[in-house]
Amino acid sequence: MSLEKYIREVQDFPKEGIGFKDITPLLLNSNARNECLTILLSAVKDKKIDKVIGVESRGFFFGILLAEALNVGFIPVRKPKKLPYETISASYDLEYGSDSLEIHIDAIQKGDKVLIHDDVLATGGTAKAVCELVERLGGEIVQVNFLMELSFLNGRQKLDGKELFTALTY
Ligand code: 5GP
Repeated sequence: MSLEKYIREVQDFPKEGIGFKDITPLLLNSNARNECLTILLSAVKDKKIDKVIGVESRGFFFGILLAEALNVGFIPVRKPKKLPYETISASYDLEYGSDSLEIHIDAIQKGDKVLIHDDVLATGGTAKAVCELVERLGGEIVQVNFLMELSFLNGRQKLDGKELFTALTY
């Protein structure tokens, strides 16, 4: 099955000049969703994983599916002030200004083997901040996986040394 046809490109979203890759057609189709999950799982099949992180908000969809299939815990990494308990945060640069992400301090125990998932790898800033959170809590990053990589934005460079996997590459 070609998964590309379930990714819709929306021009000028969220602002002019951006061609946004919309994953909602993929979510809508159970065969495409299953195929995508199978691909992501095949890349971790020989690895020990204790926990899966999903990055707010589109990383939650497949993050929870991955955690369920691997029969391990799921950790939401969220935008500031969304998590109720004590958190640590890491910031990352945006085109204009910066943003940050948070994780609960008790979500990861030292030595936990963690799989990080998000829908898209663009410039890599988001994924890098999540890696920083995991490492600050003493977790070991097994892999960072994505539904797709926008390779022309060179996000991989920011994640040097991390094992990366992506189901689709643009
Ligand atoms: P980065 O930090 O790598 O530049 O951006 C990645 C983050 O932005 C991801 O959390 C992702 O959800 C979002 N993102 C950036 N571009 C796109 C896109 O074209 N489509 C989707 N679905 N998300 C995007």
